[in-house]
Amino acid sequence: MAYHTPPGPPPDATTRGFLGVFRYSRRAMDLVWTTNRLLTVALAILTLLAGVLPAAMAWVGALIIDAVIAASKAAQDSGVTSMTRVFTLVAIEAVIVAALTGAQRGISLCQALLRAQLGQRVNVMILEKALTLELAQFEDAEFYDKLTRARREASSRPLSLVKRTFGLVQNLVSLLSYGVLLVQFSPWAVAVLLIAGLPAFFAETRFSGEAFRLFRWRSPETRMQLYLETVLAREDNVKEVKLFGLGPLLLGRYRDIFHRLYKADRALAIRRDGWGFVLGLIGTVALYGAYAWIAVAAVASRITLGQMTMYLMLFRQGQSAVSAILSAIGGMYEDNLYLSTLYEFLETPVISTDASKERGPRPDDGIRFEGVSFTYPGASQSALMDIDLHIQPGESLALVGENGSGKTTLIKLLTRLYRPDQGRILLDGMDLNDWQESALRQRIGVIFQDFSRYQFLVGENIGVGDVRYFEDEERWREAAGKGMADAIIEGLPAGYNTQLGKWFKDGQELSGGEWQKIALSRAFMRADADILVLDEPTASMDAAAEAKIFEHFRKLTQKRIAILISHRFSTVRMASQIVVIENGRIIERGSHEELVKLDGHYARLFSLQAAGYK
Ligand code: ADP
Repeated sequence: MAYHTPPGPPPDATTRGFLGVFRYSRRAMDLVWTTNRLLTVALAILTLLAGVLPAAMAWVGALIIDAVIAASKAAQDSGVTSMTRVFTLVAIEAVIVAALTGAQRGISLCQALLRAQLGQRVNVMILEKALTLELAQFEDAEFYDKLTRARREASSRPLSLVKRTFGLVQNLVSLLSYGVLLVQFSPWAVAVLLIAGLPAFFAETRFSGEAFRLFRWRSPETRMQLYLETVLAREDNVKEVKLFGLGPLLLGRYRDIFHRLYKADRALAIRRDGWGFVLGLIGTVALYGAYAWIAVAAVASRITLGQMTMYLMLFRQGQSAVSAILSAIGGMYEDNLYLSTLYEFLETPVISTDASKERGPRPDDGIRFEGVSFTYPGASQSALMDIDLHIQPGESLALVGENGSGKTTLIKLLTRLYRPDQGRILLDGMDLNDWQESALRQRIGVIFQDFSRYQFLVGENIGVGDVRYFEDEERWREAAGKGMADAIIEGLPAGYNTQLGKWFKDGQELSGGEWQKIALSRAFMRADADILVLDEPTASMDAAAEAKIFEHFRKLTQKRIAILISHRFSTVRMASQIVVIENGRIIERGSHEELVKLDGHYARLFSLQAAGYK
């Protein structure tokens, strides 16, 4: 299937070796620290506390048992019962338990707060990065996978990594304190404790790596699943899904993908847990071996009963601390692998735009294309070849050509959404690449055929045309008047403040032609843009309405450059310069009259359409 890519080479992260992969721990820490310092410090302190308290508990527990035994012995020997020591110790134990519970609660509170803040922060980082990228990058499937992966997992991973790091510290502190107590029994006991956990640990890291690779390789499939979900469950697709009866087919495809992925998941889960069980048995054997050993020591009276209970508890808890430590390390390894995808995305090189010029040397030169060629990344054929073009202020240009001939591509190059492979495009005598991004954007107002229909207020849908006046009702009205959308808007229930789209309460839907008028008004929001481009935004209107709009448009843009793509000759003929494009090349150019006289491609198409209207 087209969207199924075979497993690629292993990710850098794993090839750089086991330790190299922990390099993101520091960055995750930094991220958490800079997100909220207070919470991080609180978390650290509580973690240390939660680490030491269990050992203290075990120790006091042992003292209690020995105190009880001593008290009962004293009672037998002298008949006097003194419970003061026992009660004091019990009270201390209770305080320790309360403190431990408090610390654990505090830890989960800090984590919950940090999770919310961190999730938001990482998502914002991802979106901010997305804003700096070029259109071409979004259209690149591999890049898109990176983005999706980063978004899906990475917002929970930094906290998870930090949680595990703190968990690791907490358990290390516990283990150390257990060790201090346990070493009095025997250093060997400490060694057994540590070594018994290792096999399970190695299994864990290995399987983490495998799970990650699985996650990475399958991202095209997960993306297809996400896409199918959107197709099946979004209002804009429902019409076709219903009428074409696509539902069962697409759902079937959705299920197939799941089953394919599930098989691999299941195999991995079974292996992971199978090995986990077998290797975990080693730990159990060690525990019960130590149990017997400690019991023997107590029977031989080398240790007191209180000490016996303490050592047993230390051993049992020590073992769970060791396995917690090892699985924390395994988990950190996994989190690091996932974070590597986040940073891989965040570090995607941005095409450098140190271009800072806001003005060209020849302000009345307009736009020039000089030998411009362009091929879409990965495409086998050029979309545009050897384009030479000059449009002066006050002129209007119409682009004519069949679908796929390259008209929209030309506009994308002009607006610097893509950059030419060869040749250059000049505005006011200066290469587009030297223009400062914002200065360039200010100059050009474009409405594409597939303009966005935002589920915002009608007014805001016009306001998007110039972010500075996004919420400026005065400007909306002015632009709507020029775009001839005012009549439609005044008919809406809340006028300019009517919500559009079905996602929100009371949202209104507009017809295709009505939307186009909204889009057209958007172009007029840019009052200071002196280049206006309409890429077939009026295709849903009838020919007469389109011609009227363009005439009106022309009047309003007299000193500016107007570029228009249309299939309607009634509109096209009004342009001062007409360019006919075929297969990415300009084949004819001139005014309507000149082209008709030339009796070429244009003339043929024109008479065909004119015949249709007779
Ligand atoms: P027109 O606007 O004249 O209908 P376009 O400029 O949209 O034509 O497309 C010109 C050619 O470039 C077509 O062959 C089309 O398949 C290809 N093309 C358009 N957009 C992309 C894209 N984003 N990625 C790859 N190829 C594209």
